[in-house]
Amino acid sequence: MRIILLGPPGAGKGTQAKILVEAYGIPQLSTGDILRSAIAQKTPMGLAAKEIMDRGDLVPDEVVNGIVSERLDAEDCKPGFVLDGFPRTIPQAEALDAMLEEKGMELDGVVEITADPDVLVDRIVNRARETAAASGGAARADDNVEVVRNRLNVYRELTEPLVGYYKAKGLVKSVDGMQSVEEVTAAIRRVLHN
Ligand code: ADP
Repeated sequence: MRIILLGPPGAGKGTQAKILVEAYGIPQLSTGDILRSAIAQKTPMGLAAKEIMDRGDLVPDEVVNGIVSERLDAEDCKPGFVLDGFPRTIPQAEALDAMLEEKGMELDGVVEITADPDVLVDRIVNRARETAAASGGAARADDNVEVVRNRLNVYRELTEPLVGYYKAKGLVKSVDGMQSVEEVTAAIRRVLHN
């Protein structure tokens, strides 16, 4: 099963990706997680990405395209993968198409998790507070109101056009993200098996 999860920040992509990992025994490829781990390890890529991510802007396409291309070659991606947070721009989607063709892989579907833009800022900021409280650590640096608004604008401008891009390929399966986690999971399983 080769799936892309598409949707605005806060729609629940990461949560659903983790559930799909369990259900299908395939890895979650989250460019956000990979970049955050590069930052934590202070690699050159992480150091270059940190400022951009802290502002809520997108790191350059070449950087994330490289991460994904390398990751897709790993053994654990043979049975499939869940892409979470990639592609995020039309050029990234075109690069992914080229990669998949070269590697002889085909997508099974693009699951669009829709969400009401008005609730997303609150959802993300509250989630950040809860995570910080639970871990006793710091919230994600890009989870404050101003940066979240920028992430949502970036989504609307650069990432939302991907819905049309993949609709033209007949791959989009939309799911209402404004339900409980379990209901969203059930809806995703339904659309994937239809
Ligand atoms: P969310 O979907 O909650 O905004 P992510 O963890 O997917 O969070 O991404 C966090 C940040 O990482 C983004 O705001 C961006 O700076 C960077 N990033 C992640 N994936 C990509 C990508 N595919 N292209 C460019 N930047 C990315």
